[in-house]
Amino acid sequence: MAYVLPPLPYPTDGLEPLYDQATLETHHGKHHAAYVEKLNAAIAGNAYFAGKSIEEVLADLEAIPQGARRAVINNGGGHANHSLFWTLMGKGKGGEPKGGLGDAIVKEFKSFAEFKKKFTTQTTEMFGSGWTFLTQDQEGKLHIRNLANQDSPISLLEKPLLLVDLWEHAHYLKWRNKRPEWVETWWNLVDWDKAEELFAEEPAWFVEHAA
Ligand code: MN
Repeated sequence: MAYVLPPLPYPTDGLEPLYDQATLETHHGKHHAAYVEKLNAAIAGNAYFAGKSIEEVLADLEAIPQGARRAVINNGGGHANHSLFWTLMGKGKGGEPKGGLGDAIVKEFKSFAEFKKKFTTQTTEMFGSGWTFLTQDQEGKLHIRNLANQDSPISLLEKPLLLVDLWEHAHYLKWRNKRPEWVETWWNLVDWDKAEELFAEEPAWFVEHAA
C-alpha cells in the first residue's frame, strides 16, 4: 500500500488572482508530491503502515519503527499538513466562522479580530520553515501553535482546524521574502465552512488517544 497525493479541490488557477497558478502548481505538484514520494519510499515493505491513515501514524510517533520514524515525521507530516491546507482554502472565501468554531474562538480569544491579530503575530514569530496552526486539544480548548518543519499537531494529540504554510516555497515566487503579505492574502482564502466541519468532527485517532 502507498499513500496518495490527493487532487486539489479546485483547478490550479482556482485561487487566482490571490494565490497564483504557478505557485500552486509547484506547491502541490512538486512539493506536496515529493513528500508523498519520500514517505512511500521510507515505508516501502514495512507492514506497520499497512491500512493506517497518515493521521493514525502521526498520532503515535513512538510506535513508528525507528528506522522510518524521522522520514515519516518529515514527509508524513508534510503530506498531512498539505492535504489539510488545500481543503481549507477557496475562491471568494475569507471572512469569519459563523458556527460552533466561531463561538469557541470568541470564547478563547475574546473576539475574532483579537484571534486574527494573535494568529498573524505568531506567523511573524516563526523562525525558519514551519506552519502556524489553530488547534483543539483533548479538553476542547483552542490553541494557536507554531510548529517547525513539517511537524503535525496530531503528534501532540491536538486536532488541526486551520493552518498556514510559512515555508518560503509557499510564497517565494509571488511575494519573495514578504511573508506578512502572503499571510494577509491567505486570510482572504480561508474556508471557514471547512474549519467548522473539522471542529465538529471526532476523528478516530483523536478519540482513541483521548485521556
Ligand atoms: Mn508547503
